[in-house]
Amino acid sequence: MEFAIYSRKSKQTGKGESIENQIAVCQKYIENHFGTQHNIHIFAEEGFSAKNKERPQLQNMLLWAEQKKLDYIVCYRLDRISRNVGDFAQLTEELSKYGTAFICVQEQFDTATPTGRAMMYMASVFAQLERETIAERVKDNMLHLAKKGYWLGGSPPLGFVSKRVVEKNHSFCCLQQHSSEIVTAQKIYLFFLQYCSLSAVKRKLEEEHIFSKQNKPFSLTGIKEILTNPVYCHADAQARAYFLNQNATVTFSEAQCSHSYGLLAYNKRNYAKKSAPRQKTEHWIVAKGRHKAIVTGKQWIAVQAILQRNRPSVEQSKTENEYALLSGILYCGKCKSKMQPKKRRNQQKNAIAFDYICKGKLQKQCTIQNLSGRDTDEKTEKLLLEYIAEKNCFDEIFQKYECQSFSQQMKQCQNAIAYCQRQKENYVMLLGEKRANRILTEEINKKLIELEQEQNVWRQTQFALEKKQIQWQQKKNISFFSLWQELSIKQKQEAIRFLIKKGIWNGEEICYDL
Ligand SMILES: [Zn+2]
Repeated sequence: MEFAIYSRKSKQTGKGESIENQIAVCQKYIENHFGTQHNIHIFAEEGFSAKNKERPQLQNMLLWAEQKKLDYIVCYRLDRISRNVGDFAQLTEELSKYGTAFICVQEQFDTATPTGRAMMYMASVFAQLERETIAERVKDNMLHLAKKGYWLGGSPPLGFVSKRVVEKNHSFCCLQQHSSEIVTAQKIYLFFLQYCSLSAVKRKLEEEHIFSKQNKPFSLTGIKEILTNPVYCHADAQARAYFLNQNATVTFSEAQCSHSYGLLAYNKRNYAKKSAPRQKTEHWIVAKGRHKAIVTGKQWIAVQAILQRNRPSVEQSKTENEYALLSGILYCGKCKSKMQPKKRRNQQKNAIAFDYICKGKLQKQCTIQNLSGRDTDEKTEKLLLEYIAEKNCFDEIFQKYECQSFSQQMKQCQNAIAYCQRQKENYVMLLGEKRANRILTEEINKKLIELEQEQNVWRQTQFALEKKQIQWQQKKNISFFSLWQELSIKQKQEAIRFLIKKGIWNGEEICYDL
């Protein structure tokens, strides 16, 4: 087998085991667990911190892994390779794609074993939690701005330009109609209400030689984007009721409804994910803007209803199964087909009764016995938890992750607050100097306000973190078991697929491939 040993020591702090010691411990581990007949490649790094992945030897090693030249990466301690939970989760995911397992000597963390993978799964849950906290924070800030009807930047939708306005010493942007473009948007709504079809609208526009901002024919998605954007819709009572009904956060009252001003929707995309996918309407913040809109709430809602009706019904046929934990990983030992969960006809009140049935059997080509779904799931769950409990190193590592992630975020806040403070003090000092003229003074005052705002955002973040930390501490004795109980069926399915490669039913028992 091909092993890589990764060791790192940061020069600045000088703390931690020496590179040579780290390597020696790893070599010993490989020898004890795998014997001596292996190739070992050393990747050592000095003077780099594990803040990010921009380290030459690490990158070099990952390249090797990508070329499938490595079976195992061994390192002395987890923090040698990464201090960032998110980074780490991404890294291990990448490695497993290349078929490279990862071993941490001190933490006894081996991704080739189910326990190792369990811990990795939890690590990715943390990463998820962290991302969600950020998303929440972003939403809070947006809500604040949304109430004022500001345009938050980005390219304005067709028919509008972004205009800077100064009001009570505050400068901000809002939308304003663009006289020729807005006519195009009006036509798109008109055509659609007339023909009820995106491609008909597209044809119609081309016939009339109407083109997009980039002077190209409109695409179907481009047209749909315009038709689903609330920016064109009046902030009237019907629109308000529609969004409330969709569980969106609406920031204006019944009395504030208007037939001249349009809507603005914030938080439409999820920026916690790389591709920033569109979010469901329930996550939106819908506010009254300061721009003139072109269609009434009634018309806009009609457009949405037609779009909904036109949607191909493929999604409905692909029902997701929300009850069988082992769906997708259970196979028939006789004919090698997948075992498929199937609900029983006479359903009980509380729990769904179902069986795992061989797909071959459903086509009358196999005779293997069915498996009782609920029993099988329960037994598997129990086995899995027992296995993990037996290894008994979960709690310690869990806490370690927890602390690391908090202290890191906290530090970031403290640094940012201190930075703002220093800058503010510098500006105040400048202000005190006699040479400062009126223009400079204004400029400095503006800067000071900006810094104050920025500092406040960081203070709020810090406060939220502190609150969360207290909550976690109250739950101190978190074990894998108690965490497991809190997972939803969907999360459990995900976790099980992560932990068990497959299970084979031979008619008498299930053999698990972990
Ligand atoms: Zn079969």
